[in-house]
Amino acid sequence: MVKYSDKEKLKGEFIVPEYMDAAFLTKPLEVKVLKEKVPKVGSKDVLVKIGAVGICGSDIHYYAHGHIGERVVQYPHIQGHECAGVIVAIGDKVTRFKVGDRVAVEPGVSCMACEWCKEGRYNLCPDVQFLSTPPVKGAFVQYLSHREDFLYPIPDTLSFELATLAEPLSVGIHAVKRGNLKPNSTVLITGMGPVGLMAIVAAKSFGANQIIVTDMEPFRLEAAKKLGATNAIDISDSDVSQMVSRLTGGHGVDMVIETSGNEKALESSVKLTRRGGTIVAVGFPPANHVPLNITHMLQNEIDLLSVYRYINTYPTAIEILNQVGNEVEHIITDKYTIYEIQEAMNQSYKNKEKSLKVMVYPNTK
Ligand SMILES: [Zn+2]
Ligand SMILES: [Zn+2]
Repeated sequence: MVKYSDKEKLKGEFIVPEYMDAAFLTKPLEVKVLKEKVPKVGSKDVLVKIGAVGICGSDIHYYAHGHIGERVVQYPHIQGHECAGVIVAIGDKVTRFKVGDRVAVEPGVSCMACEWCKEGRYNLCPDVQFLSTPPVKGAFVQYLSHREDFLYPIPDTLSFELATLAEPLSVGIHAVKRGNLKPNSTVLITGMGPVGLMAIVAAKSFGANQIIVTDMEPFRLEAAKKLGATNAIDISDSDVSQMVSRLTGGHGVDMVIETSGNEKALESSVKLTRRGGTIVAVGFPPANHVPLNITHMLQNEIDLLSVYRYINTYPTAIEILNQVGNEVEHIITDKYTIYEIQEAMNQSYKNKEKSLKVMVYPNTK
């Protein structure tokens, strides 16, 4: 494995070639780099030369299992949706960007015309085209065509790799906004995968005072502390409810953000939440049905909110990352070229003890 840095702009003239390298998922657990035509840009699209793409938990799920729920991969498929790069071509009706601008890519392009889009909840758009969610192809490519209104400028001080974290951070921001997190509150975040870790960054930025986190991997709990978790509980050797009770003077936390998708974590969050508090469910449990103590929730007016992707979070995410970039850099644990993508996927899939965010650089040889 080689170390790559993208601190500078991608080098070279912006001469767009006819063909590019793209990583195709050809069957479960198999990725091959093949030649693909560089996409044409529509009039409101820009062509982004991809600087970095982060591998997401959902990419790994499709990689290993070929589906998430009813969404099934149609092979060959291109994965990847957490990406950033530099604009190398623009459509004739593009007004917001010019060639040479560095951007973060918001992966879900919504119609902006349906009732949900008009309501401002464009994450619920039935026609959303979300990079890498089958059948839409993703960002493990050298050039990506994307509608300009789902691109955001990034400052020169923010590297492409850090800018890709705007995607998982967006989930955390949407969670704290939906849960209406108040300054000085106490938050419990369960599950310290990249989304849980980014939820720490979001909670901290939105003024949480005490951030308690849980996981069973010591490496992840350490990373959480570096990001600002005030208390890290290893669920393999401690009683979470006892610890939370002790840390909150017996009251429970103001908000639980559940990112692990573990049904036990969601189930037990009810009793860890303060009277009048809020549970925000982010992680998808393997089973569709999870038993919840509704009586306890009713008697204590505990709100349960669900989070699906995010809305209008990218500018905030970019600003936060630009401010705290150095403190979050350590979650990028592995770096690969696109030609090493098979290894990159396996690293993310298998090495839960040592790997957090695995980064792929499609334009680095
Ligand atoms: Zn993601
Ligand atoms: Zn829509």
